[in-house]
Amino acid sequence: MKTPKGRSKVIPARRGARPETENSGSFSKAAESLAEIGRGFYARGWVLGTSGNFSVVISRKPLRLAITSTGLDKGALSAKQFLEIDETANVVRGEGRPSAEALLHLAIVRNVEGGAVLHTHSVWSTVLSGTHARHGGIALEGYEMLKGLAAVETHKHREWLPILENSRDVVELADRVTSTLRETPGIHGFLLQAHGLYTWGESLAEAKRHVEILEFLMEVLVRSGAAQSA
Ligand SMILES: [Zn+2]
Repeated sequence: MKTPKGRSKVIPARRGARPETENSGSFSKAAESLAEIGRGFYARGWVLGTSGNFSVVISRKPLRLAITSTGLDKGALSAKQFLEIDETANVVRGEGRPSAEALLHLAIVRNVEGGAVLHTHSVWSTVLSGTHARHGGIALEGYEMLKGLAAVETHKHREWLPILENSRDVVELADRVTSTLRETPGIHGFLLQAHGLYTWGESLAEAKRHVEILEFLMEVLVRSGAAQSA
């Protein structure tokens, strides 16, 4: 949850209100919706201790994201705490700094048809991404809840949830996220080892549903003993 380093320079937050622009309406709407979802995730214990971050694509050309500012209590998240960033994670609207992980959000929306990216730090994803790291991922198969993932029509679907080694070098990590998305098309999310879940959706509603489905299935795996037998 630090400011991006290396290639992506973050300019200081601008003070004062920014004049109305063409993205103002979609930015405000996205920020309101993301704040509400963030408070809900906090209540579920998925984004405690200022962890997690959320974004919505508000423009593709040029690429613009509404994204959480860093270091916020997600249980008290408000729309005013969101930033608009450009394709290099520079802040173009709002006060505050984005998380270093903004670079991962950008890598995801560049490589999938994602309109929203949600990132959680649940107990379940932390446990499983550690115990299954040596397998490179987790296979989810045979669960009715899999049908909640976009384009999945049967519980017999085998969902591969890759696990990427965590890193403080977020530029390098974003490159590995890009490679993973290109090498495993069709996945709905990935885990960072001993860190948490990233998932996305064409819409914010779909991304939220994916968090609920994947967090549910990871909790099932841990409670049914998969963590011990991995
Ligand atoms: Zn994180």
